[in-house]
Amino acid sequence: MIVITSPKEMNAWSQTMRVKKERIGFVPTMGCLHAGHLSLVDVLRKQGKCGQVVMSIFVNPLQFAPNEDFDKYPRTWDHDKKLAEGAGIDVLFYPTAADMYPANAKTFVEVGDMGKVMCGITRPSHFRGVTSVVAKLLNIVAPHVTVFGQKDAQQFFIIRRMVHDLMMETELIMAPIIREKDGLAMSSRNMYLSADERDQAVCLSESLEMARKMISGGEKNTGVIIQKMHDHIQSHPLAKIDYITIVDTETLDELTNINSNALIALAIYFGKTRLIDNIIL
Ligand code: AMP
Repeated sequence: MIVITSPKEMNAWSQTMRVKKERIGFVPTMGCLHAGHLSLVDVLRKQGKCGQVVMSIFVNPLQFAPNEDFDKYPRTWDHDKKLAEGAGIDVLFYPTAADMYPANAKTFVEVGDMGKVMCGITRPSHFRGVTSVVAKLLNIVAPHVTVFGQKDAQQFFIIRRMVHDLMMETELIMAPIIREKDGLAMSSRNMYLSADERDQAVCLSESLEMARKMISGGEKNTGVIIQKMHDHIQSHPLAKIDYITIVDTETLDELTNINSNALIALAIYFGKTRLIDNIIL
């Protein structure tokens, strides 16, 4: 595995591979790697059919608001490097913030209202940070195919819109959510939870399963489904609801009736830790 820190060198590597007709797959991450991240590499190898896999590790300052956990976000370089090597990554791209955001930069990417709903309500500048950095990463790495996790479903649908709107060339793959044994979606932020919070955090996936069962049983009214999920989460004293919503995956507009494009998503606080989860019908 090669480690590249310079965006210029990264791009030169990709251009050389393209000349050799190698197919490049890309897995963007913020590091603190876990089995969820590694599953993206497997999905990419299987579905993306790429000979070369690039993973990036970059804790992107632009997607954290000043009151969020940028400073506290776990940075585990030695562990990440070992895991990436074990997963058969060809290039680990590890740029600095100074290289990604030169002092005179003025260009940012925003995807209209899609970044202002759901997680965008409590994190109004978050998706502008995500799309700006992903646009840069896609330009630098020039991948044929890029994989993102369904875990961050809103992020996936916003990036899909950006790639389409800006006529970018990479193919996008969405990889399924990898969960702990009790159903909690794996996340680098789970390590912030106390033992009691960790026990109660299972209510996210439980409430999504309840919704799935109601829908299989014929329930179509999203208000009824959301109320049931709400009641289940509320019965956990350490959980505080940020949002529970059912939206259309294409537009992220709220649905009043379930359709085949529905995304059921929620964000729940445990103390200062904010966890997200979702299912797509
Ligand atoms: P992050 O490092 O949190 O920015 O995540 C990097 C990528 O890994 C994103 O595409 C996430 O959606 C994906 N990811 C994070 N957690 C999981 C998980 N539990 N299962 C599948 N993909 C995940």
